[in-house]
Amino acid sequence: MATEPALLELACNVIGIRDVAVMGHADCKAMNLLEQDRARWHQSHLDESPLKTWLYQHAQVAVEHFEKLEKCNFNKPLKIGNIEAFIDPFNEYNDGDKLSQINTLVQMDNVLSYGHLKEDQAKIHGLWYDLHQSHVLYFSRPEKRFVVVGEANCEKIIHSCCQYDD
Ligand SMILES: [Zn+2]
Repeated sequence: MATEPALLELACNVIGIRDVAVMGHADCKAMNLLEQDRARWHQSHLDESPLKTWLYQHAQVAVEHFEKLEKCNFNKPLKIGNIEAFIDPFNEYNDGDKLSQINTLVQMDNVLSYGHLKEDQAKIHGLWYDLHQSHVLYFSRPEKRFVVVGEANCEKIIHSCCQYDD
């Protein structure tokens, strides 16, 4: 059994935490490696590298989504569970960063898939740190993309992400 579901159960079901944030970041060495090596890994991903084997096991789904989007030039939305998202619609980031954003959403969906964690119990948020420009991006479900958090929109984001049912 993995550690993450147990930790989430402790946080959300026992302690009562109501917001879970999954955070990705730009220039992620793991995502860059995965993106650059993906063609080779398709041929034999069970190579001698524990790092690559681990990465492939945990981020293979993200790579598959990346390759689907690559075929349509990132013009179509990505659909993962109940998340729909346009990845880097203004083409501001390189492929490693695009993959990192996709993987952030994949990991959000992973968290949502844990049976003990109902969406009314905890909200799952996606954050992504653009360290090239020192921006924090928030995944906006209504806008279906990561948006840069700034003074102009932070009230709106706080309002939309902190609405609870009770
Ligand atoms: Zn990283």
